[in-house]
Amino acid sequence: MIKNEDLSCNKIYRELGISDRVYLHGERVWRSLKDRWERIDALSEYNQLKVIKAMQKNQVSEACLMGTTGYGYNDLGRDTLERVYADIFHTEDALVRPQITCGTHALALALMSNLRPGDELLSPVGKPYDTLEEVIGIRPSRGSLQEYGISYRQVDLLPDGSFDYEGIRAAVNEKTRLVTIQRSKGYQTRPTLSVGRIGELISYIKGIKPDVICMVDNCYGEFTEKTEPSDAGADLVVGSLIKNPGGGLAPIGGYLAGTKECIANAACRLISPGLSKEVGASLHVLPAFYQGLFLAPSVTANALKAAIFAARLYEELGFQVTPGAEEERFDIIQAVTFGSPEGVIAFCEGIQQAAPVDGHVLPVPWDMPGYDSPVIMAAGAFVSGSSIELSADGPIKEPYAVYFQGGLTWQHGKLGIMKTLQKLVEKGIILEDFDKQNL
Ligand SMILES: *Cc1c(COP(=O)(O)O)cnc(C)c1O
Repeated sequence: MIKNEDLSCNKIYRELGISDRVYLHGERVWRSLKDRWERIDALSEYNQLKVIKAMQKNQVSEACLMGTTGYGYNDLGRDTLERVYADIFHTEDALVRPQITCGTHALALALMSNLRPGDELLSPVGKPYDTLEEVIGIRPSRGSLQEYGISYRQVDLLPDGSFDYEGIRAAVNEKTRLVTIQRSKGYQTRPTLSVGRIGELISYIKGIKPDVICMVDNCYGEFTEKTEPSDAGADLVVGSLIKNPGGGLAPIGGYLAGTKECIANAACRLISPGLSKEVGASLHVLPAFYQGLFLAPSVTANALKAAIFAARLYEELGFQVTPGAEEERFDIIQAVTFGSPEGVIAFCEGIQQAAPVDGHVLPVPWDMPGYDSPVIMAAGAFVSGSSIELSADGPIKEPYAVYFQGGLTWQHGKLGIMKTLQKLVEKGIILEDFDKQNL
């Protein structure tokens, strides 16, 4: 029997370096969000059932968890998992492989396999994610699409964030073969696109040129709505397994889900013409791929809760947050603009200090491959670099915004955000009496 021991959260937060002031403020903020929690729980319930339904329909069995080595002929677990993904995304086929090493690789694969010399790629939603600049050749790079004679055109969003329909109509031409639409905001403060808006854009483009391939970079968007872009007309959706659909358990991997034609092109490029989907051993990753997918709706919901908590807390302190606390969400990213490198760095230090792994290390900005300015990344993850686990990152450049995402559990997300506030207060970036209007 434990006697007279203080088992309050207040005390253990204090032991983790959270002052009473920050703790009480955090408590007040999350109490104000409880009705949002109910809606997120309903979303994750729907998506959980969607995943179970797809697994049952395809008779996922114990044998599917075994994996293969070598060439990987007759890999039952791999083939079944690809059918499960195709059913979740309501597509004809899918490619889900540990040989796809990350999100950028999955997107590069989708582009390089579905475009041919002389074709043109169009982004009607502005600049794509930073690492794609070198894939496309916007920044000259070895092996880019540009080197293979594939041209690129971009139509920016209008200043109010809406689609530039006239500009898009003018940009589509006889060479336009593939349109890439990024759902999430990436390192930008533009709004994330909902499945509904993506659907409108796709039907507009197909109205101009019906045979164009519409691809969606679905990174960070999976399971944040009841539908996916492939339900709204996308021919191909692409993402990373160390983000939402891996549920925190997948140790590597990427997926493509789409038409038979698009997936066949991708498989021939990933493996080899002729061998296609038949080859590619799944080694020992299948239990993590399956169980991660099973957990993904719930993990994504936890990440959404952490993002909303961060939005409300920093919005109240007067910082610009995208999206706002009350806005609907279509990805798990929360941007907070601090306007100074010190703010971005302090925030990332706070996230790092909340980590179960590497909580004692100090993140610093560095020149990462694929990015054009130093980037600071905080992640104390079980899977290295996993950003479905609690993480934050930001390029050290104007407008000095930090991008926060993930949290396998909501409780961890809450601790992380409280740690960021604690850091910002300790470094004098936020005044010590930040909560005085609430006292
Ligand atoms: C993360 C991300 C990518 C790239 O994924 P990596 O796994 O980091 O290579 C591409 N697009 C978007 C929108 C992303 O969020």
